[in-house]
Amino acid sequence: MNALDTRLAALRGGTPPAGFSARAIAGLTANPGCARRALLDASGADKGRISARVGFPGRFGQSTFALARGRAFEEQVKADGAAQLLALLRERLGLAVEEAAYLPLEDVGEHTGREVRAAHTANLLLRAARDADDAGTLFDHPMLRLNVAGHTAYLEPDLVAFQVGGRFHVVEIKSFAVVDGQVDSEQVTAAAQQAAVYVLALRELLADHDLDPEAVSHEVLLVTPANFANTPMVSVLDVRKQLAAVRRVLTRMSRIDSLLEALPEGVTLDLALDAEGNPTRDPAELSAALHQLPARYRPGCRAHCELAAFCRDEARRADSLDVFGPALGGMLGGVDTVSAALALADGTRAPADDEVEIARALRHAESLRCGLT
Ligand code: SF4
Repeated sequence: MNALDTRLAALRGGTPPAGFSARAIAGLTANPGCARRALLDASGADKGRISARVGFPGRFGQSTFALARGRAFEEQVKADGAAQLLALLRERLGLAVEEAAYLPLEDVGEHTGREVRAAHTANLLLRAARDADDAGTLFDHPMLRLNVAGHTAYLEPDLVAFQVGGRFHVVEIKSFAVVDGQVDSEQVTAAAQQAAVYVLALRELLADHDLDPEAVSHEVLLVTPANFANTPMVSVLDVRKQLAAVRRVLTRMSRIDSLLEALPEGVTLDLALDAEGNPTRDPAELSAALHQLPARYRPGCRAHCELAAFCRDEARRADSLDVFGPALGGMLGGVDTVSAALALADGTRAPADDEVEIARALRHAESLRCGLT
């Protein structure tokens, strides 16, 4: 274990390290300026358990119903050697169905460990990338690796399609419906962010073996149900913007030592698990430790981070405008707190020279709110 690992382990404490998923890496791009999240994720701390221990338990992620629906839809399109999917991809990618093969990579004989699966996946994908053969292959549940803050993250895309002509496409299968061509943009954005992580992992695999990383397309194929039936349809997502965001976040994670440097000596998020694995750490002490890690709360955190309730409460107590997001903070210029903005709005605080315009706008908004105009 190197010095950085030792310090990250000390920050995490005795809890086993949580792995990085593509969803977690994508979540980092949603609030790249948050040192708290970067430190917790780099150390492998369990954000959900920490949040519960400091008094903010809560369900995070998809509901059981949504997960079950997602699994059922995925099984449907992958049934019979991915027959439905192949039919769709033939149209989109020009795959000759009679030539295409379907390769499930969920386990490797009796070996289902991540390392063995990742090595097996890498062998097959590299062989496919080097092979001039035109035959397309669908690689189902490959295990990819990505270096995050010096650690190996193991990622498992729904599927990677190898197109005729030697180009890989990541396929994401999601169960949210596209109704009359309309989709929930938040869900599509989340799918694109996640797929960008897979594209990057695949590109790095090729680059590490002197192959052209651009052989992995930035166009991701999103398979969703059409309308209210379960008939699958394919949409193409361009994930170049998301790829750039993931790269920026990973660069920041690679400089995690500078964030660690700024922490007070001895700060730890150790849950002090007992023999049964239950946390025994004093919640007030743990909460105080968390406050030592600088956060940058945004309303979007609620969709991406297990600590959102804790951080929102912290921002509210600090009277911070962060609870309303960066757009409002930008509009209010140098006004830093909620109470300062309210006092300017109701006229109980005289504006400084550089606040006159903002104060006028706030008073106007307040008068509209009170129905006085
Ligand atoms: S919820 Fe808190 S820790 Fe998570 S990203 Fe937002 S501010 Fe950072």
